[in-house]
Amino acid sequence: MTSTAEFSRRLSRAAQLLRASGRSALIASPGADLRYLCGHDVHLTERITALVVRADGDPVLVTPTLERPGADGSGVTNIGIDIVAWDEAQDPYAVITSLLGGSKVSVSDRMWAQHLFGLNEAGSVSANSAANLMAQLRMSKSAEEVESLRAAAAAIDSVHAQLEQWLRVGRSEVSVAADISRAIIDAGHATVDFVIVGSGPNGASPHHDASDRVIEAGDPVVVDIGGTMPDGYCSDSTRTYVVGGEPPSEFAAMYDVLRHAQQAATSSVRAGVSAESIDRAAREVITEAGYGEQFIHRTGHGIGLESHEPPYIVEGNTLQLEAGMAFSVEPGIYLDGRYGARIEDIVVATENGVDNLGVAPRELRVIGG
Ligand code: ZN
Ligand code: ZN
Ligand code: ZN
Repeated sequence: MTSTAEFSRRLSRAAQLLRASGRSALIASPGADLRYLCGHDVHLTERITALVVRADGDPVLVTPTLERPGADGSGVTNIGIDIVAWDEAQDPYAVITSLLGGSKVSVSDRMWAQHLFGLNEAGSVSANSAANLMAQLRMSKSAEEVESLRAAAAAIDSVHAQLEQWLRVGRSEVSVAADISRAIIDAGHATVDFVIVGSGPNGASPHHDASDRVIEAGDPVVVDIGGTMPDGYCSDSTRTYVVGGEPPSEFAAMYDVLRHAQQAATSSVRAGVSAESIDRAAREVITEAGYGEQFIHRTGHGIGLESHEPPYIVEGNTLQLEAGMAFSVEPGIYLDGRYGARIEDIVVATENGVDNLGVAPRELRVIGG
């Protein structure tokens, strides 16, 4: 549980960043931004809920009257947040614009456009994206957040440890995915976020879902799975298996390249190096082995209250890593029409190196019969 003191620290840091950028308020939407700033967890709907963090002044949570019990019960008042409820016949956007204390505001980039239009019509707001401001707050995880991510990683890797019983020749990807989904919940997640089971040629599509394709003997199968834990922190882990027989002859050598690339990238992580240098570490190994053109995505993404968030581990991102930044290291090699492979762990940069939260074995294993 995030402490009241921690929420207060986050809110005053947000106010400080607003003052530094000459903005009078931050309007945070339901989702990761709202949960990060005050712990309130509600869905985005057509009835606007927003936390207004002011550069000068106390933060205010604006909520529809019918959802006020949830706002009261969320404990936000303990952090010094006032609650303002709006009635069905009221214009909620006018309520919000009256609280801003100025026209220059920053808005959660996950706010529905509908609400941003509403704010624009209600008052003369000049809105920019709060993405940068929120990234500055959310990118470096506290020790407590790292432990939440570690628990999430252990939960998802406990699902990988059970795959042997489900990944079998003759089963379809969707039926395997159904078993995996149940296991993700049984492992302690509140929700299943994605289950990718890419067998044979489907493994060459990095964001393949799960299809009716039936697994054949010797198929490499990419299994990329993740969920959200009850405290809001996400898991995301990929392993590539070979099912029920020897893989195609080139596959083992290709997998070996991938393992080295993932290892090289992981061990290059530490505070002070750039995000793009991690991508380069993986890409160099893969390119040298001749598969550069088949590594068609960035090496990783940040993770926290969202499964994809800054920092992005990609060429061109010169951001210097700080201790506490958490992200995936997930190089992949994809041979169109044949098969693919990816290995993914969540890692945390530390002052001296890396804290790898992934615990599932990475060596190539033949499983299932
Ligand atoms: Zn992905
Ligand atoms: Zn993944
Ligand atoms: Zn990922």
